[in-house]
Amino acid sequence: MKPLAQKAIIITGAGMGLGLATALEAAARGARLCLVDYNEDALKQAAAGIQQQYADAEVITVKADVSNEEDVKSYVNATLKAFGTIDGLYNNAGIEGKQAPLTEYDLEVFKKVIDINLMGVYFGLKHVIPHMQQKQYGRIVNVASVGGIRGVMNQTPYVATKHAVSGITKNAALEYARYGINTNAIAPGAILTPMVAGAFKQVNPADPKAAETEYAQANPSKRLGLPEEVARVVCFLLSDDASYVNGQTLAIDGGQSNSY
Ligand code: NAD
Repeated sequence: MKPLAQKAIIITGAGMGLGLATALEAAARGARLCLVDYNEDALKQAAAGIQQQYADAEVITVKADVSNEEDVKSYVNATLKAFGTIDGLYNNAGIEGKQAPLTEYDLEVFKKVIDINLMGVYFGLKHVIPHMQQKQYGRIVNVASVGGIRGVMNQTPYVATKHAVSGITKNAALEYARYGINTNAIAPGAILTPMVAGAFKQVNPADPKAAETEYAQANPSKRLGLPEEVARVVCFLLSDDASYVNGQTLAIDGGQSNSY
């Protein structure tokens, strides 16, 4: 039997990048999927791509902004309506914000990063956990970052929110483990997604490829990661193979977070 067979899993930020890669991997492992994104075109393309590769996959899409609590309620309700249950939540949607030193950081962008990266994760937990509590089962994966383990130059709100995601993960694990709910986080290093491509453009607008090469050189593995390498770990954490893993923030970074 496939490891995620029949599991009803919500994936936020599923339109591209890490969310889409995980949606594809979860579909391959038999999951039923609720794909959430505020980019409707990306969402439609993602669903069509999954359906093309996995004709039997059960997939619904919900256009929602994770920083809006009403939208979060709507993706929870849509999942319950379609599948009758929620087994897993991949709380993945997030943004990087702009790159600037702490004292010069634009306040509106700062607040937006908090709204999406922290409040979006919180709202997901707040509205999904009660349903998992009822059935005494749940698997949750929140997305932190290497920036949730250490500092990253010129990314204060990103780093602050990703440390917060690691913290909220520990609390959810403590408070809900007794109901059969495991909550973990992942801390990806630089993975080649549209978000990271955008970051390299900000660092070196004239030559983003040079910024990418320089960044990869600083990694012990001398390369960036691939979305599929993250997706496989997330699917493991969403499965019953990870039944006694709880409250962890797992780095997926080629060893980067161990260097100084
Ligand atoms: P991405 O920009 O490639 O994709 C993110 C997706 O999330 C997009 O489809 C976007 O439309 C959606 N999204 C953004 N804000 C949203 C919102 N408010 N509501 C609904 N959907 C929203 O980004 P990615 O690289 O795939 O990153 C995904 C997650 O992984 C983020 O939380 C990011 O911080 C984290 N992360 C990524 C990396 C990396 O190297 N790519 C490293 C560490 C952490």
